[in-house]
Amino acid sequence: MALRTGEEYIASIEALDLEANVLGQPSGDLAAHPLVRPSLRAVAVTYDGAHDEELAPLFRVHSPLIDGEVNRFTHLHQSKDDLVNKVLMQRHCGNRTACCFQRCVGLDAANAVYSVTYECDQARGSDYHGRFRDYWAWVQRQDLVVDGAMTDPKGDRGKRPSEQADPDLYLRVVDHRPDGIVVRGAKFHQTGMLNSHEILVMPTLALRAGEEDWAVCFALPADAPGLRYVLGRQASDTRKLEGDPIDVGNPTFGGQEVLTVLDDVFVPTERVFLDSEVEWSGPLVERFAAYHRQSYGGCKVGVGDVLIGATALIAQMNGVARASHVRDKIVEMIHLNETLFACGLACSARGQATEAGNYLVDLLLANVCKLNVTRFPYELARLATDVAGGLLGTLPAARELDDPELGPYVRKYLAAAGGWDPLERVKVLRLIENLVAGAGAVAYLVESMHGAGSPMAQRIMIGRQAGLDQKIELAKQILGIGY
Ligand code: SF4
Repeated sequence: MALRTGEEYIASIEALDLEANVLGQPSGDLAAHPLVRPSLRAVAVTYDGAHDEELAPLFRVHSPLIDGEVNRFTHLHQSKDDLVNKVLMQRHCGNRTACCFQRCVGLDAANAVYSVTYECDQARGSDYHGRFRDYWAWVQRQDLVVDGAMTDPKGDRGKRPSEQADPDLYLRVVDHRPDGIVVRGAKFHQTGMLNSHEILVMPTLALRAGEEDWAVCFALPADAPGLRYVLGRQASDTRKLEGDPIDVGNPTFGGQEVLTVLDDVFVPTERVFLDSEVEWSGPLVERFAAYHRQSYGGCKVGVGDVLIGATALIAQMNGVARASHVRDKIVEMIHLNETLFACGLACSARGQATEAGNYLVDLLLANVCKLNVTRFPYELARLATDVAGGLLGTLPAARELDDPELGPYVRKYLAAAGGWDPLERVKVLRLIENLVAGAGAVAYLVESMHGAGSPMAQRIMIGRQAGLDQKIELAKQILGIGY
């Protein structure tokens, strides 16, 4: 199949006719739902990039798996350049959408599953890697969106899966059949699930002997029987139901998070990529997390560019763009944003080939990248709020500007510097609000904190990867002590 366009992608999701609960009710036509449609349009940007002549070198790449051209969002990285280009592509998509464009999770999951299944087969004599290669070649040829599903509900975090009052709080195998397995459980935080053709499920933590039922990795079509979906709420999301795109802040695009329930779902053998190999759950979690921590060095930077631009624009509209403290705050925002980008590039440039042949990012630097992401977007949001001023929290609704009686007063007192129309000033303020306190803050702030693992997970990995003993030796050598 030729690479799909954004329009063809949207038509393919509409044809899936998925069902979900939205705001406590069956959604009806899900793809057309005002809470879902903006997120569908954001994913479409990842398809349209492949048809833009200027962007083609970034979005189109040769895949040795099918010996053909694929969208980079389905590519198995073949070099350090591929890793770098992934980050550049994500920054571009963040620039275009100012939100989460959702398609990276499946890409990161695929690269992790590809190398882990290879190594598992080498050690165990299993045949998972061949199955995954066949599956992913099909994904590439069909140019699909795959939801990467990792986070289990976890219940009592102080207990292992087998110690939970309800063993389903970690997704598990409940039955083995001659032709496949039956799984039960749920996955939280499923970014873009309702905009995906497929779901690729992975374990949520490093498992131990005795926890074999939970060591499972597999893929399913998004419309498989037994899959149930509940759309997550986002701050100010019902503004999307009010019919005024200005108050939404981001008039075209948005993200999507979903609670996904797997209610005794059958998975055929050819779609099972781990089943009871507890020792491979840890590497799978670690590699997926590392790829997605790298991803944030692209996507969050792209969104940060938009926030910086909106902040500089509102400073002009407020007539304070030349004030030295405002200029300094904007430079600080740029510095923080480019630091994140540098981390995303650095962990890519220091990537290495896995035994399976695809490339993995540098684990230490990917974790440094993400740990910075847990902080810097919050500081960018604080600085944007500072520069934008208190109107960010007190602005009347956009439709007030058209009120026959009070509209003239609202327009008069929202007068902007530099000849800007008051409505344009409202639009910029609403975009900043969207990113620092509205629906866009789900991806830009909460996800920056917890997506791809919470800060403590990165600290643990940094502690493990940093080679502290070697640093102690360096200090001892300089001082000539301890020998
Ligand atoms: Fe992609 Fe960023 Fe969204 Fe993750 S949070 S899916 S990396 S856009």
